[in-house]
Amino acid sequence: MVLDVPGRPLREAELPEPRPGPGQVRVRVEACAVCRTDLHIVDGELPEPKLPLVLGHQIAGVIDEVGEGVELEPGARVGIPWLGWTDGDCRFCLSGRENLCDHARFTGYHLDGGYAEAAVADARFCLGLPDGYDPLHAAPLLCAGLIGYRSLRLTGDAARLGLYGFGSSAHLIAQVARWQGRRVFAFTREGDAEGQELARSLGAEWAGASGEQPPEPLDAAIVFAPVGALVPVALRALDKGGVVVCAGIHMSDIPSFPYELLWEERSVRSVANLTREDGREFLELAPQVPVETHVEPFPLGEANEALDRLRAGRITGSAVLTL
Ligand SMILES: [Zn+2]
Ligand SMILES: [Zn+2]
Repeated sequence: MVLDVPGRPLREAELPEPRPGPGQVRVRVEACAVCRTDLHIVDGELPEPKLPLVLGHQIAGVIDEVGEGVELEPGARVGIPWLGWTDGDCRFCLSGRENLCDHARFTGYHLDGGYAEAAVADARFCLGLPDGYDPLHAAPLLCAGLIGYRSLRLTGDAARLGLYGFGSSAHLIAQVARWQGRRVFAFTREGDAEGQELARSLGAEWAGASGEQPPEPLDAAIVFAPVGALVPVALRALDKGGVVVCAGIHMSDIPSFPYELLWEERSVRSVANLTREDGREFLELAPQVPVETHVEPFPLGEANEALDRLRAGRITGSAVLTL
């Protein structure tokens, strides 16, 4: 499914079979989860995507061909995440922050991704998939899970955690947070009974609309929804010293707000991308929790439908394209 130009639906196309170059593998895609970032690319909200482009950066599949110098074997089950390549020698890479690499290339944005039958990836950035997850249920771990996990880590040891936007990422991270002994408060769009129900079933002790105040102050909030207006709303729900972590790559403008919302050492920060270390750590943790992914599968040819439903907030859990 090819994006020719932002603002237009994806087009079903026959592309030449990709071949792995030196250091690369070709993966037979079995499932590729849909991320809100895909929507931002389609909607032209992220600058300079590769065009035409195959979207998709939560790829679960099996290696079927390896390029020169690759140690992975055909038949290995792997995941291909968002971080597709880094230079390895900029000051960010050299200080353990490859997520901020000056020259990073991202899967399904600068590099063709997984809305396809096959994808080629740099073997060094592929992640081994945990046992006990079929491709359909493993795929959402690869961005919703990983970025969510990085966001959760940046909340420190916050005991009372608010999740704004209870979609693909929040439904996974709520489970990790509960397992770590945190208390979870879920915020959804007004009237999203299904989302609130899912949140409660995954251990949230309270679920309500994003405009509501939680029953008690929060120590941290993660904003997954791409809605800047939620930042002051989340700040208002925080106790002293709390942090708001913005997990998305794109957000509408944050409205101005009185300084008193930030006062008393509250802070606002963002999360950008992931490191391979985040990936390995989270994929090792997921089966221990165990994190259960709730999915809505779509055949690859219905990618536009999946994107439209995500845009409209009509997906419960994670949308996943299957092959
Ligand atoms: Zn993503
Ligand atoms: Zn770098």
